[in-house]
Amino acid sequence: MVGEIETLDVAHSQSTDSGHSAAVIDLNDPALTSENLNENPEGDSYATPPPLPDGKWRAKLTQLDIKDSKGQPQRYAAFQFPKMNDGKPFLATNVQSTILDASGKHDGFKLTDYWVKTALDRSGNSGVGTILTKLKQTLTPASAASRMEQFLRVLASEPELVVETAWEASCQTCQEAAKKRGDKSPKPFLLGMHRFPQTRTGHDPVVTCPTCKGSVRAQARIAQYHSLDTPHNK
Ligand SMILES: [Zn+2]
Repeated sequence: MVGEIETLDVAHSQSTDSGHSAAVIDLNDPALTSENLNENPEGDSYATPPPLPDGKWRAKLTQLDIKDSKGQPQRYAAFQFPKMNDGKPFLATNVQSTILDASGKHDGFKLTDYWVKTALDRSGNSGVGTILTKLKQTLTPASAASRMEQFLRVLASEPELVVETAWEASCQTCQEAAKKRGDKSPKPFLLGMHRFPQTRTGHDPVVTCPTCKGSVRAQARIAQYHSLDTPHNK
């Protein structure tokens, strides 16, 4: 597994770097004619890298635009649904976490938390309020609009937190079918990396949807936010 990932990373960085370097290399350069390549036949340059393993990671948070009810990207947008937030309007935005991994192995992996809301849930807090609290910000009484402004101000400084991630398998085919029927979107059918089939090198992220038998690939999702002093992968 480690070998595969490293091979993939090297392949990726080389293809990225080649776009920037304009050095002229002689075709007879000894690096090309005398040094042997040391390929790993187990590696697959075209394979999708596996999702981020489940765990707690240090991450940098940034705001990502959200589509409003007209489909236009906005820093944040207002929504209202009969069954959410007691039918009252609320504000939502998207938050991106960029993994900071000192080992370099998963550094730069990005996860998006869609629909981070000002709406209070059963916990008595909101997604926005929870992240602010983990960032040691004070929640003084505020309207949804001022709370969202506070959140965007804090995110603008690209603050760091510990994010807890988990593999999740959700079937897009079944989700779209439910949407067409006007039904509630089905929940992920598999949650947590350890529940995915064990392989020689770890866990297989590709599983079969129990409903439509389609092939679904696990995605790493944010399960929870923790304060920066929480123990995490180094
Ligand atoms: Zn399905």
